[in-house]
Formats: sequence, structure tokens, C-alpha cells
Amino acid sequence: MKTAILGGGLSGLALARLLHERGDEVVVLEAEEQYGGLCRSRTENGFTFDIGGSHIIFSRDKEVLMFMRRMIEGNEQQNDRNTKIFYKGRFVKYPFENGLFDLPAEDRFFCISEFVKNLIAVEKGEVPAPENFHEWICYTFGKGIAECYMVPYNEKIWKYPTEQMSLHWVDGRIPRPPVDDVIKAAVGIPTEGYTHQAVFSYPLDGGIEALVRAIAKPVEPFIRTNFRITEIRKSGGQWQIGNGAETIKADRIISTIPVQHLLAALSDVPEEVKAACDALTYNSLVCVNIGVKGSVPNYSWLYIPDPALGKTNRISFPSQYSRHVAPQGHSAILAEITHQPGDAVAHMSDAELVREVTGTLAAMGLATPENITYTSVVRQPYAYVVYDIRYQENIAKVREYCTAAGIPLVGRFSQFEYLNMDGCLRSVLDFVRQYPA
Ligand SMILES: Cc1cc2nc3c(=O)[nH]c(=O)nc-3n(C[C@H](O)[C@H](O)[C@H](O)COP(=O)(O)OP(=O)(O)OC[C@H]3O[C@@H](n4cnc5c(N)ncnc54)[C@H](O)[C@@H]3O)c2cc1C
Repeated sequence: MKTAILGGGLSGLALARLLHERGDEVVVLEAEEQYGGLCRSRTENGFTFDIGGSHIIFSRDKEVLMFMRRMIEGNEQQNDRNTKIFYKGRFVKYPFENGLFDLPAEDRFFCISEFVKNLIAVEKGEVPAPENFHEWICYTFGKGIAECYMVPYNEKIWKYPTEQMSLHWVDGRIPRPPVDDVIKAAVGIPTEGYTHQAVFSYPLDGGIEALVRAIAKPVEPFIRTNFRITEIRKSGGQWQIGNGAETIKADRIISTIPVQHLLAALSDVPEEVKAACDALTYNSLVCVNIGVKGSVPNYSWLYIPDPALGKTNRISFPSQYSRHVAPQGHSAILAEITHQPGDAVAHMSDAELVREVTGTLAAMGLATPENITYTSVVRQPYAYVVYDIRYQENIAKVREYCTAAGIPLVGRFSQFEYLNMDGCLRSVLDFVRQYPA
């Protein structure tokens, strides 16, 4: 019984490994020249950058975290998170609610008084239950934290009005601090939020790709790269998967590729399902990689909610995660700009994007043009699932169709869920446990 795994990102590779380990015959079909998907890294001029945006290894899920750390054993650097939000020229501790003391006094007062007033109103039942993401933010944090950080940052990363986003996904994804912690933070007693990420791991060598390489090692002979799936058919009980030049046959398939690519390769998809799939919203990503001479501030990464500071939503400092990702005497900076497919950012040239980011870095006092020794730009068409208000209705139609067609969906853009690496690996482990041999 041969299983074809569509897509060779983290999910596809982990599936292949676990199925192979239990004796199944597998083949992984990957469109790109190099497997790894969003977890690929590139080394140039002595700098290693993650090309799907800055990645770190962390999880609440102990089994998955142990698996990831075992994979990079002997090649791991553990780090304490030191993340800030750049707010009115200040570096405010992350999460924002734990950093209120770092705010200018008026803003601190605005945030804490609105937080408390809102809490009382909610307790008294005066605030209706939230029905969209924007309402959830105000209901949970009050108007102050919402206006100063939560709304501007979320609109910058999602490129979507928060009023038009669903709220079904926020629990567990967005830190929700105890009331005491917010009050302590406002009066200057240090508190930590999002604690399962307070310590994180990163490969010493090879960037995040070292993790997927370690996972893929036992199944490398079964990975076909440069195989972009364009056609999937079932005939006589067998699947035929084609790339326009060649057809691979398999008894079963598991898809980890974006649902948009999967449905495009299938014939006879009902119009209603196609329309639901087309309506699913996602963001693309531009990564601008910068190498600088000298050091950078001792931060892990920075969130930049202020639209006046340009298009960059997050800046990371990978040379703080691993001392091996930049040449001696140099540091690495990775700027992320999310955007909607086909929008103005998608049409910016690499040179324009580098100028955009170096302008932001200079305005923030993080790097000057004279210190920059290396730049490159990488684009990812599929980066973030956006949970718009009709998401659940649309994804349900797509999933129902795929289930009926006998195509299991595993992975970030296949399940079309905001899954981090740990979420993908959890899906893989759970899937393999119930997948008949
Ligand atoms: C900016 C950013 C930062 C992130 N940071 C973190 C982090 O710090 N920690 C964390 O845990 N997670 C992080 N993640 C999430 C993590 O990247 C994903 O959870 C994970 O990489 C998803 O793996 P996947 O295999 O499901 O999908 P993908 O990596 O998207 O893999 C899908 C694969 O399918 C291939 N494919 C697509 N179409 C076809 C086709 N037609 N034929 C054949 N192959 C095809 C693609 O080339 C790709 O290799 C981050 C994501 C982003 C965007």
C-alpha cells in the first residue's frame, strides 16, 4: 500500500517519516527545488536567514516540543525571549499588557483605567458578548490597550479590518493575562505573559531548516522535489498524480499543499466548493534580510504597530537566536511585511522593499545605511491564514468535499488553519495514530 504525500514542508516530511518508521511505503511530492516549505533557510555571505519569516521552536504541547528538540539535539541554542513592542519611540515589554509601565504616563493611565472600567462593565453584564475580533479585543482588554496596540498591530499584520474577522481562533493564540498581572504591570511590578514561549530554542547551525532536515533524513530517498502537482485523478481504485510531464501512482494520498492548489488539480469540483475555496483569505509575506556590521540591540524580535513607521510589522534579530547565523563582528536583522496577494507590496521591486525597510530601521535607530553589508528579499505567497467572518462556513464546504473525495488534509494551508510548527506536528501525530496501516 503506497501513500503519496502532497507537499514537502514540515507537515509532509513529518508525515513521511512517521509512516515510514511504521513500515508504510511513502513518496513525497514537492513543487520546489528544495523541500521544507515555510521552514526553509538560506545561507549567503555568511548570514543564515529563515526564508518563511523568523521561526523559533516553542510549544505548550510537551510531546511535540520534545520531538522538535530531540530532532535538533546537539545543534540547539536555548534563548530567553526578550521581545518588545516599538511604541512612540519606546521599547515596551511584550505582551503589551505586561509592558504597561513602559508606556508614557498618560497612555499607561488610559490603558489601565479603560481596562478596569471595561472589566466592571463586563462583570455587570453591560457589554454584549463579542461577535467579531474587534469586539473581542475591546471586550477583553478595554478601549485603551485596544487603541494603543491591539487594533493597530492586528490590522497591520492581517491587512484586514478587525471588525470583519472571526473570533473563533483567539483563545490560546492571543495572550489573555490575569487581571492582577495587568494591574501589577501598570504599577511597575514585573510580570511575564505568554510564558510557554518565554524560553525558546533555535538550531545553532542551518537556521530553522535544520529542524526539517533532521526530520526528513530517514525519508530523503522518497522525496521528489521539482514536482509541482497540477493534476490528481482517481481511476480503478488508484490515485494518479501528475505534474504535466510525469504521473505518479499511489493507493492513498494525503494533502499538505494549500487547498487552493489541491482543488485546482482536481477535476469535477462543484462550483459551490470552488467558490468557497476562492473566498478563503490569506496573506503573503515579504522577508527583507539585512546583514549589518557590529551589534544590534539585545532583543529577540520587535513588533511595530505604528503605520507611520512604514510597512514592516515585525523585525527579528536571528543572530540573537544563534551565534552562528552571522559572520564574526556582524549581526542579522529580518524584517517581515505581510500583504495581500497581488496588492501594491506584491508589485514593489526588491530594491524598493530594501529601501522601505532600511528607512524603518534608520527611523527606529536600529541600523544606518553605512553599517549594512548584505541585503536580500524573499517572498512567500502563502504565509498567514486570515480568519475572516465567513471563514468557518467556507472551510467547512471545502473540507466536506475533500473528506468525501477521500483526501485527508494535514498542515497549515491544507487544513487552512493558523497552525505553528507545533500545531502542524500535533496534526501529523494525531493523523498517523488513526491512519490504518
Ligand atoms: C512569518 C512566519 C513566522 C512563523 N514563525 C513560526 C515560529 O516562530 N514558530 C513556529 O512554530 N511556527 C512558525 N510559523 C509557522 C510555520 O512556518 C508553519 O506552521 C509550518 O512551516 C507549516 O508547514 P506545512 O508543511 O504545513 O506548510 P508549508 O511549509 O507551506 O508546506 C507546504 C509545501 O507544499 C508545497 N506545495 C505547494 N503547492 C504544491 C504543488 N502544487 N505541488 C507540490 N508541492 C506543492 C510547498 O512548496 C511547500 O513546500 C511561522 C510562519 C510564518 C509565515
